[in-house]
Amino acid sequence: MPSEPKDAARRELLGGIEAGGTKFICAVGRHPGDLDIAEIPTTSPVETLRRVVEFFQARPAVAAIGIASFGPVDLHPASATFGYITSTPKAAWRNFDLAGAIRRALSLPVAFDTDVNAAALAEFRWGAAQGLDTFLYVTVGTGIGGAAMVNGRLLHGRTHPEMGHIRVPHDLASDPFPGNCPYHGDCLEGLAAAPAIQARWGQAPHLLPAQHPAWDLEAHYLALGVVNWISTLSPERIILGGGVMLREEVLGGVRAKVAALLNGYIDAPDIVPPALGSRAGVLGAIALAGLAIR
Ligand code: ZN
Repeated sequence: MPSEPKDAARRELLGGIEAGGTKFICAVGRHPGDLDIAEIPTTSPVETLRRVVEFFQARPAVAAIGIASFGPVDLHPASATFGYITSTPKAAWRNFDLAGAIRRALSLPVAFDTDVNAAALAEFRWGAAQGLDTFLYVTVGTGIGGAAMVNGRLLHGRTHPEMGHIRVPHDLASDPFPGNCPYHGDCLEGLAAAPAIQARWGQAPHLLPAQHPAWDLEAHYLALGVVNWISTLSPERIILGGGVMLREEVLGGVRAKVAALLNGYIDAPDIVPPALGSRAGVLGAIALAGLAIR
């Protein structure tokens, strides 16, 4: 924390870092309408962090930094490796102390969470989950990640949920694709993330036409995931985002199939797109920074 009163008085902005596998998005501001933002390509940890630190050193009004990180990450406060990126396939970043490196370089309070949890927090503050205290935010893109806010708090438990890696029924007769999760084969992510769509159909998802059977199958698998999450966590709303969900035919299909699968036993909650789009992650990092100094 800044120690001198005159220093504290001018530190009135929040810093956010969305740490991704291909780029780091850095921003300074307080809400969606006033972001000073820059994108830095993800290269080596030393080079990437040098540029991130330079960005914030040039903006001395920042009072705290929030980090929304790709992962998996260690979020257990009592762990010796809290704030580390842990088992990522990106070898140079494996077991890297991201939160510690930023804290030491900038001497500011640092809050740290997953990119998905941070995006959920941003949707709660400024987007599609305002006024709710129990909802899910799920992103379907290169992987499937889910965040749960339960009774007003993001669910962490031991670390963070891994909603994409649940098992769903897989009829090998109608869908012989074996799944491509390196850990589980045909978990939900292995059947329904963008790389699975590409591997199953031999074509990038964005090139598949709207009437292609890929989209009905995609909605089928996502609906199976959604009904499991509804049954377990009783969300008031489910926000479905990520690159795959930009295909309009998927969201409508998921809604219809969720209602069919629930079969009148309970009502389905609203299933909606995110309101903050590609800025949700870095805005979530800003929201995290606010929690660090509350
Ligand atoms: Zn898996």
